[in-house]
Amino acid sequence: LEPYFQFMLRVVTPGGVATPEQWLVMDSLADKYGTGSLKLTTRQAFQLHGVLKWNLKNTIQEIHQAMLTTLAACGDVSRNVMCNPNPYQSELHKEVFYWSQQLTSHLAPKTPAYHEIWLDGEKVVDGAEQGEVEPIYGPVYLPRKFKIGIAVPPSNDVDVYSQDLGFIAIVGEDGKLAGFNVSVGGGMGMTHGDTATYPQLAKVIGFITPDKVLDLAEKVVTIQRDYGNRSVRKYARFKYTIDRHGLPWFIDELQDRLGWELSPAREFHFEHTGDRYGWIKGTDGKWNLNLYVQAGRVVDTEGNKLRTALREIAKIHTGDFRLTANQNLVIANVTPQKKTKIVALLKEYGIAEGTQYSALRRSALSCVALPTCGLAMAEAERYLPSLIDRLEPVLAEAGLQDKEINIRMTGCPNGCARPALGEISFIGKSPGKYNMYMGAGFSGDRLSKMYKENIGEDEIMDTLTPILHRYAAERNQGEHFGDFVIRAGYVKAVTDGTNFHE
Ligand code: SF4
Repeated sequence: LEPYFQFMLRVVTPGGVATPEQWLVMDSLADKYGTGSLKLTTRQAFQLHGVLKWNLKNTIQEIHQAMLTTLAACGDVSRNVMCNPNPYQSELHKEVFYWSQQLTSHLAPKTPAYHEIWLDGEKVVDGAEQGEVEPIYGPVYLPRKFKIGIAVPPSNDVDVYSQDLGFIAIVGEDGKLAGFNVSVGGGMGMTHGDTATYPQLAKVIGFITPDKVLDLAEKVVTIQRDYGNRSVRKYARFKYTIDRHGLPWFIDELQDRLGWELSPAREFHFEHTGDRYGWIKGTDGKWNLNLYVQAGRVVDTEGNKLRTALREIAKIHTGDFRLTANQNLVIANVTPQKKTKIVALLKEYGIAEGTQYSALRRSALSCVALPTCGLAMAEAERYLPSLIDRLEPVLAEAGLQDKEINIRMTGCPNGCARPALGEISFIGKSPGKYNMYMGAGFSGDRLSKMYKENIGEDEIMDTLTPILHRYAAERNQGEHFGDFVIRAGYVKAVTDGTNFHE
């Protein structure tokens, strides 16, 4: 007899793109082996929760049959490669999405062990004895997880500066992809009480053409493989490797391994993180609906049959689904004929597109936290909506209901919902208690700073209410909340993680 072990399964979808057939498989698995809901993650992946141990193999096999995989969705390897879902520029999306797929497969572990264990490959053997070698990761893989994201300016929806390795698409005068600016050394996680750990912003180091993407990514990964801290796991992320050795050292080492030099970074400009909601017509004449999904939870509730609606849409949809970096969903590549049917289905099941929610709710991001995540110290997904319920009247009173303010909450400092990039953010300390941060850049280019420690809901309300009113009364034209709280002196600007705790 053993305890009733249950697991979370994370499913890789490069760039967040899934076919309607794959959506239907994930939807059915949620009932068959999960808890009846699907979670769209902040890394554009699916999560299935509550899979019992004796169902793991069947679940993984059915995921595999749908041409999806759980391989490298977790672990000390390159995780799901993120990519802007870009419903505006259809051709450009094809190009950047292609590179997210290429990066995913190039950096996927090559071990046959996954197939042997889960997919009934021949037999489980000692790979080392058989002379198997991981061509990129080597015998001991990376010291820690490794995250890659592709942004398409002006949107920084993937929070490219939070990625270990970022690619910022640069579009040529012909409207086609000219290449990428490369950023390195971002990361969100830290440990409460250990100031040697901190969130960090990636730095842009140069420009490359698309044909160099895989070579560059591989060499960056091998530097982290060879120089990452393997003694203390909490100091093992790539950001600490770069900060320890210095950026000039890293660039020299990278260019040595590449045998060529990066070009100077090209001009670009980010306007925002987050998603833009509603129907958008792509350059190919097809329609795309960016749908709001609260906390990325696809579930049926009374009066809101989101899961059923998406299942029915998947049955008739001929385009694709795109999970966004903000836990929302783009129903993409919709023909004008199918658009009418999809609109009718959404209406039938009571699904709002998102544009009618307050701007604060639309801009909210939260991790899973309790009860699913074993690291959680406090609630996030289940609690943030009710905190927003209390904040909305304050915003309405101040005339800020349409003002986008990025608000983020996580149940622990691991930072899965990228809280250090929230203009207002909360990181769980214990049940009902959070450290409160403010002052991140609206376009994801500046970190937040701790303002209050270990506070509960009433203190959160007492703290935020006067600040929001002051912001409403005193903000400059177009000034974002994160910029205002710095100008007004509430917090200091943090443009480098090494100053995060000062
Ligand atoms: Fe990630 Fe921590 Fe949230 Fe768990 S509680 S999902 S580890 S941020």
